[in-house]
Amino acid sequence: RESQAKKFIRQHMDPDSYPNIGSSYCNQMMRRRNMTKGRCKPVNTFVHEPLVDVQAVCFQEKVTCKDGQSDCYQSSSSMSITDCRLTNGSKYPNCAYRTSQKKRHIIVACNGNPYVPVHFDASV
Ligand code: UDP
Ligand code: UDP
Ligand code: UDP
Repeated sequence: RESQAKKFIRQHMDPDSYPNIGSSYCNQMMRRRNMTKGRCKPVNTFVHEPLVDVQAVCFQEKVTCKDGQSDCYQSSSSMSITDCRLTNGSKYPNCAYRTSQKKRHIIVACNGNPYVPVHFDASV
């Protein structure tokens, strides 16, 4: 079975595409990274920074996750990200996404040994 750490990388890491991101980026990447199987995943963020820099967020500012219970970590630097949001009219299996590039601080949950990102909580 896919580990939580590998799942995070599959769903949220794309260090190499930036800055060559076009309007069809999310349509292609959400499919390529297996988030359009069974259903269209509604919202997903890709981070365009080196993996080591995203892993380092686990040792930066501790914040409360959206679920109000677990510990999350907020990046001290703003990072280049792309948010993919399912369009209103999109119907499975034709998952159509809006692509929005941003510079934001990311918030992730971390777990395991080594202590690495396992969940993308939000960007601020
Ligand atoms: N998926 C997968 N392996 C896993 C978990 C998920 O291939 O271990 C695929 C699955 O097909 C799913 C997609 O990734 O449709 C998005 O995952 P999920 O909906 O679980 O994302 P989440 O809502 O957990 O972030
Ligand atoms: N997500 C993301 N970027 C965001 C917000 C959410 O990639 O800025 C993904 C992330 O995988 C998260 C999932 O969407 O686990 C569900 O988001 P959330 O927990 O906010 O649930 P919702 O409010 O959409 O039910
Ligand atoms: N998780 C966590 N804190 C949270 C939300 C999730 O520690 O606030 C853990 C959760 O137990 C799961 C892992 O993060 O084992 C991955 O969560 P999810 O499938 O939502 O990942 P995402 O889709 O955000 O990448």
